[in-house]
Amino acid sequence: MTDQAVILAPNGEQYWDTIIIGGGPGGMGAALYSARALMSTLLLDRTVLGGALLLTEHIANYAGFPEGVGGFELAQRMEQQIRNYDVDIRMLEVTSVTHDDLDPSAFKVVTNDGIARCWTLILAAGNTARRLDAPGADEFFGRGVSTCAVCDGAFYRNRPVAVVGGGDSALEEGLFLTRFASEVHIIHRRDEFRAEKIFVREAQEHPKIQLHLNRVVAEVRGEETVKSLQLIDTLTQQPAEDLPVDGVFIYIGSTPNSGIVQLPIDRDSAGYIIANKRTQTSIAGCFAIGDIVSGSRRQVAISVGEGCVSALEAEAYLTELRRHQQPSTSVAAE
Ligand code: NAP
Repeated sequence: MTDQAVILAPNGEQYWDTIIIGGGPGGMGAALYSARALMSTLLLDRTVLGGALLLTEHIANYAGFPEGVGGFELAQRMEQQIRNYDVDIRMLEVTSVTHDDLDPSAFKVVTNDGIARCWTLILAAGNTARRLDAPGADEFFGRGVSTCAVCDGAFYRNRPVAVVGGGDSALEEGLFLTRFASEVHIIHRRDEFRAEKIFVREAQEHPKIQLHLNRVVAEVRGEETVKSLQLIDTLTQQPAEDLPVDGVFIYIGSTPNSGIVQLPIDRDSAGYIIANKRTQTSIAGCFAIGDIVSGSRRQVAISVGEGCVSALEAEAYLTELRRHQQPSTSVAAE
């Protein structure tokens, strides 16, 4: 590790004022505020900026856009805005986050191409869609099984598809898929949906959508690509429909991208980071925002708002750190 290149802050400083891990709406919101507070800011993302925005075709509930806005367009606008400021944006894969070995009140971020050190850290790495645990689901991943309707939906023009799940994502994406598919079968393990009532009503009334309640997928079957799904009735545990579909979209929740965080930080049982309303975590100087946080409602507006809060809190923490030499202890996460 010691021979790794160091990503220095402006003016050759060893320590960045803040490093933001994750360039979704939360990370970009944080970068906007930290840069405007004249904090030296390093924003890291694996690939491109946008995060979950890039997986959303149309966003109808982000304030200020009465006609709605495309996820890609909103991501581009946010990126343009932060590029107007002095934010160092780098596409690097973060492999670990620990306390710094030189100064344990600071943090060390190890990437695939060098290490960076910072006084404050904003965790905004989001989460990853959960995969289906059924025979064939991994084998046919990318050959009919997908976790992204926006990315893959158009391949299924006039072909039957299924969606697994009963939350907002399943219903919203199921409705989106009706633009392309001949039939959309929504498979849910209970007889009641977790999704917003407006989505449920739209799905129930849509002529292309068929709901399969009290059902789970026992097996994804196919040859080169997916051909059908064998379902099980969850009430009787007996085999139910053998559903002929060409594609299946999995929306059964997600897991947090928090494995890189090797700090003794409080997490919930699923690994999501616990943070309070001020985005403070159990580690002084470390903040968490957006979909990596325990109890996140996965809304763009919330992530952007938390990004703003985290940068303001990071600035206040840094001011205190500089004034007293010693960091204040963190407020315990609520
Ligand atoms: P979610 O709300 O956790 O729903 C996951 C769904 O998958 C649930 O219906 C769950 O069933 C089902 N499920 C979980 N594990 C399963 C398994 N192994 N086999 C079969 N089914 C399984 O996840 P989400 O829909 O991705 O939503 C996450 C958050 O984002 C929510 O807060 C949601 O409101 C928000 N969101 C909002 C919007 C929007 O506002 N437009 C859009 C998307 C997401 P049970 O119901 O039986 O547990």
